[in-house]
Amino acid sequence: MTLQAEETCNTETMDHAADTNGAAHIDLVETYGAHNYHPLPVVVSSADGVWVEDADGNRYMDMLAAYSAVNFGHCHPELIAAAKSQMDRVTLTSRAFHNDQLGPFCRDLADLCGMEMVLPMNTGAEGVETAIKTARKWGYTRKGIPSGRAKIIVCADNFHGRTTTIISFSTDPQCRSGFGPFTPGFEIIPYGNIEALRRSIDEHTAAFLVEPIQGEAGIIVPPDGFLRHARTLCCENRVLFIADEIQSGLGRTGFTFACEHEGVKPDMYILGKALGGGIMPVSAVVSTRDILGVFSPGDHGSTFGGNPLACAIARRVIALLKTNQYQDNAREQGEYLLKQLRAINTDKVKQIRGRGLWVGIEFHVTAGKAREYCTRLKDLGMLCKDTHEQTMRLAPPLCITREEIDWALERLRKVLI
Ligand SMILES: *Cc1c(COP(=O)(O)O)cnc(C)c1O
Repeated sequence: MTLQAEETCNTETMDHAADTNGAAHIDLVETYGAHNYHPLPVVVSSADGVWVEDADGNRYMDMLAAYSAVNFGHCHPELIAAAKSQMDRVTLTSRAFHNDQLGPFCRDLADLCGMEMVLPMNTGAEGVETAIKTARKWGYTRKGIPSGRAKIIVCADNFHGRTTTIISFSTDPQCRSGFGPFTPGFEIIPYGNIEALRRSIDEHTAAFLVEPIQGEAGIIVPPDGFLRHARTLCCENRVLFIADEIQSGLGRTGFTFACEHEGVKPDMYILGKALGGGIMPVSAVVSTRDILGVFSPGDHGSTFGGNPLACAIARRVIALLKTNQYQDNAREQGEYLLKQLRAINTDKVKQIRGRGLWVGIEFHVTAGKAREYCTRLKDLGMLCKDTHEQTMRLAPPLCITREEIDWALERLRKVLI
């Protein structure tokens, strides 16, 4: 049996060796994969911590961390161990039966959030869909909104996912173009504008759905006090405050939740990305007993939601967060990174924004597109991602060290100056 395992291993190694040409891999994806992404031409074949290696043996620092799904670093040994040990026991039961991981996961996540109940799903978009359904049902059954009239207020330049309902309230033409007809029931206000929120709230408003920091829009931090005032307005008008912390949450900004920067506790958290430790897609809506209590058996569900493999991994993610080590490091290294970046004397940069290890560098239009900077950084051994043409984001795994930040800064200075 050992011999067989070794043989399998060797065959695999040989398969990789026979095909180390990155260009061949890219060609396959271009030919057989739908062109719904435009990735940098690098083919990652292994990874560890903040580092990834391509099929040709080149090493890169990962400054995207899979859009913050890999907050704890690639192949974190404790997360991999949790996954492997659960895989040997049971991976999927569906919710038709109980499994012994779901209960502890819900308890631990509710506790981390200071909430009472959890509804597990898989992807972030499903978490957002779940929050929308929860808010609408709450609006009808608890607030007394007339049937079919519930309104949810959202912000311009939001990113909440890619489903038909979610793109219905996107303001990005590319996200919507060619995908209508759209779902009604949403009103869009400018991000950070408390007066617009006040004007928009009416007796049919069930919820205000907001990213505490807008990630895909380019790491947009709202004006000081916006979240706090929005929270107050929601309380006064019996409107649910829903924080989409799928990308901003779980340590990224230096706290477990970005809402903590303003001392705000939402009615509902939507979590995803890092919750699955970069191993499984795991998302969840976390809220109170009153709010998530609107669901009865058969109202909503997911075949894979709450599966034991996902729960076992997410429980270990929660345990890592409980140490506060990642939040502390994000705060400490993030402050240093921002300070050093702002000290760079360059006329190419229009603005540098950020919180914790989440930084957006916006270039002047005259200085070229962010993508060009990402390409140059790739050639220097660093993987970054542009967003909305002019902004480059930095979001490394939260385990990054001071030395590694300095290594990154050396390369950033080369392209920024
Ligand atoms: C990524 C993201 C989503 C969607 O998550 P998926 O897992 O890609 O469906 C939703 N909201 C925010 C804020 C995100 O960053």
